Amino acid sequence: MSSNSFNPFAMAQRQFDKVADLLDLDAATRSILRDPLREFGFAIPVKMDDGTIRVFRGFRVQHNDARGPCKGGIRFHPQETLDTVRALSMWMTWKCAVVDIPLGGGKGGVICDPHDMSPGEQERLCRGWVRQMAKNVGPLSDIPAPDVMTNAQHMLWMLDEFEAIHGAKYPGFITGKPVGMGGSLGRTEATGYGVMFCLREALKLKGLRPDQTTASFQGFGNVSQYAIQLYEQMGGKAMAVSCWDQHDQTSYTYLKKGGIALEELRGITDRFGGIDKAKARELGYELKPGDAWIEQDVDVLVPAALENQINAQTVDKISKRVKFIAEGANGPTTPEADAVLEKRGIFVVPDFLANAGGVTCSYFEQVQCNMNYFWDKDEVLGKLDQKMTAAFIAVSDLAAKKKLYMRDAAYVIAVSRVANACKDRGWV
Ligand code: NAD
Repeated sequence: MSSNSFNPFAMAQRQFDKVADLLDLDAATRSILRDPLREFGFAIPVKMDDGTIRVFRGFRVQHNDARGPCKGGIRFHPQETLDTVRALSMWMTWKCAVVDIPLGGGKGGVICDPHDMSPGEQERLCRGWVRQMAKNVGPLSDIPAPDVMTNAQHMLWMLDEFEAIHGAKYPGFITGKPVGMGGSLGRTEATGYGVMFCLREALKLKGLRPDQTTASFQGFGNVSQYAIQLYEQMGGKAMAVSCWDQHDQTSYTYLKKGGIALEELRGITDRFGGIDKAKARELGYELKPGDAWIEQDVDVLVPAALENQINAQTVDKISKRVKFIAEGANGPTTPEADAVLEKRGIFVVPDFLANAGGVTCSYFEQVQCNMNYFWDKDEVLGKLDQKMTAAFIAVSDLAAKKKLYMRDAAYVIAVSRVANACKDRGWV
């Protein structure tokens, strides 16, 4: 899901190589961690509503399962690529390790655009994906979840197909299910809230409170909307959001004097996180080009849409006022931009720490499914806060102690945990 010139897997490997050098990892450990353990690519024939058959391309990559079953979402996107899935699966390994949950890293995808597909066609695509992967995924081996353009309904269709194939109930096979059908309360909020738990702690380190800050967000989907919700509850002011416009096939930034109004914008946003332009204008929003979100004169930037957004071309557009970046998206910042951010002393909460709230809550969902006993929302979000805060403090303490950039400190913790698990199992 990336332009031809940007390869997220090459970037994930560069990030890994830097940490492998820092940790002085031996050749075998580098080799097992630098590439996925297993990869699957397959065709999914789907009968369309008009009677024709379309063949979609599906993927699943299992990067590493030394610490537990692979875990990671399935993304539906027209520009999905195997290298994107590889990168995301690797980041999942580090994400589960940095928050210290007993899971490994995996990721899946399908090259498709659900905007152009009826619910029936989407259901048949979900069932087709599971039919291709049923032998190689499962609650004890690899547990999928939603990602960009997939949701609770898609997960339930996938669960239903998996259970039909295996002839029993396996609620722990997939997470992000609807509440009441094996889903956990708090899962919808979890990723965005997790980003904000981390930002709250980062601000605290610098002697600031959220109510003394303003922020600009890229994306207005699941992660961004709930990040804004908690940020506003903590007293922060969201000044701008950007999103993709399906009709114009481009992105726009939405701004309003005095800050955006979350509920008002939610009311005119579709289920893919696209804001209705005409209605936004009626409500007094100013529309700017898609990349204007990054140029805002705010204290905090929250990239929460796509990878490769803060890069060599865009990093210099960041205002001098920006002191914090909390990465909701996976891979939003390239190594070239990282070097500039580090030099400028911008405090970065790196993606696989900042957005680990989703997988942490998915892990809670599995635990609840295994017990067949479900916690109330406050209990889930309280446990999430504890896990995210503990992970943030471990990373920021190491960064301070060893004078490391936050991303490198998070990598040092995560990679050493996975490397040790590989060693302890006798793999390397
Ligand atoms: P989503 O599909 O709900 O929303 C994506 C948003 O990004 C939409 O508002 C869309 O319009 C916007 N967008 C797409 N292209 C854009 C562009 N070029 N410019 C500006 N905005 C654009 O997705 P999500 O679940 O919110 O995920 C966002 C990011 O967070 C992804 O990188 C995803 O991998 C990552 N993430 C999500 C979760 C989760 O639990 N949902 C967990 C961890 C990481």
